[in-house]
Amino acid sequence: MTKRSVRSADVAGQRVFVRVDFNLPMEDGRITDDTRIRAAIPTIALLREGGARIILASHLGRPNGGVTEDLRMEPIAVHLQALLDAPVLAATEITGESVQAVAGDLEESEILVLENLRFDPREEANDAEFAAELASLADLYVNDAFGAAHRAHASTEGIAHLLPAYAGLLMLAELDALGHLLDGSERPFFAILGGAKVSDKLGVIGNLLAKVDGLIVGGGMANTFLLAQGKEIGASLAEPDLAADAKALLDRAGERGIDILLPTDVVVADDSSSERGLSVSVDEVPASSRIFDIGPQTRADYARAISGAQTIFWNGPMGVFEHPPFAAGTTAVAQAVARAGGTSIVGGGDSVAALQALGLADRITHVSTGGGASLEFVEGKSLPGVAVIPDGE
Ligand code: ADP
Ligand code: MG
Repeated sequence: MTKRSVRSADVAGQRVFVRVDFNLPMEDGRITDDTRIRAAIPTIALLREGGARIILASHLGRPNGGVTEDLRMEPIAVHLQALLDAPVLAATEITGESVQAVAGDLEESEILVLENLRFDPREEANDAEFAAELASLADLYVNDAFGAAHRAHASTEGIAHLLPAYAGLLMLAELDALGHLLDGSERPFFAILGGAKVSDKLGVIGNLLAKVDGLIVGGGMANTFLLAQGKEIGASLAEPDLAADAKALLDRAGERGIDILLPTDVVVADDSSSERGLSVSVDEVPASSRIFDIGPQTRADYARAISGAQTIFWNGPMGVFEHPPFAAGTTAVAQAVARAGGTSIVGGGDSVAALQALGLADRITHVSTGGGASLEFVEGKSLPGVAVIPDGE
């Protein structure tokens, strides 16, 4: 079942409220990565061609319900204007009389960007009155913010009950790619999971065990699996409370005949800022050391397994890739995923950042813009911002 598409909406002359995900990485009020703006452009272009009067709204950062000067939307509106080569208005408020007036005066194909939705505490509270204020600005609602769809907020959920609601093109592309992964993936299907903590991803692993042929585990979360195997991991980051759950997953995988690949060698150091690491077997981790990456043998084994897959889902780096001495594992996996044939899907803010830094993002079938949302989707959870949009064509 697919969601009702913005393509099927008759938008000519209509005011269309579009929830976008412009939650960009910023430094000192400057945009450091505009991927999420670019990802919203197909929907914006479609609406402009259709003659809609366009109202864009997003959150940015964590202003905790108050106005925060360096989290204003204006620099993003300016950047969008440059990308589109068309005027983009920026409001300094979210709702209220002045915004009503500007929204009401929009000409066909004109664009207004509202102020940061999270400047108002009622956004995250999914407050009914705030949702009604947002809805009063427009005739139709489009959700193109897949990255925020796992949250039931006024702009992602509440408003969709009050206006005819449609899914934007980015939202549809995300649902299509991730839905296909779970329902119609070509075999062999390998999932690669890494990142700091196993607690973030136990649910995903549980759901994926019913779908995949193999699971490749790296990053800090592998340490808890190594504990479950009875290995000594020195002073490494781990969640000993979850070792029993990790053991249960290993047993379930074994019963189902699913390969779980865990590191056989690792890169260790005293702390993550060390100038260099030492490669050791997982049976020889010194008591005072910490594991910060997968080792050379493991890199080669993982790359070989990845090259045999027809479908790949990757979430989470293999080590502390931000620091060059511990980046080799993540680089090796990124390169193997980029080289692999078949379908590759990568989600997760840090994994996507690693791919981009390596210049490999365009060799991936689908790079998800939604870190947390893509994980919850793959976990099998219903996303409130998706559930509220009617099914349709
Ligand atoms: P993503 O954003 O791709 O979902 P996560 O946020 O789950 O990934 O995890 C990324 C973080 O995990 C990175 O900051 C990385 O430094 C950290 N990490 C990876 N491996 C280790 C490790 N062995 N020890 C400590 N931290 C790690
Ligand atoms: Mg992250």
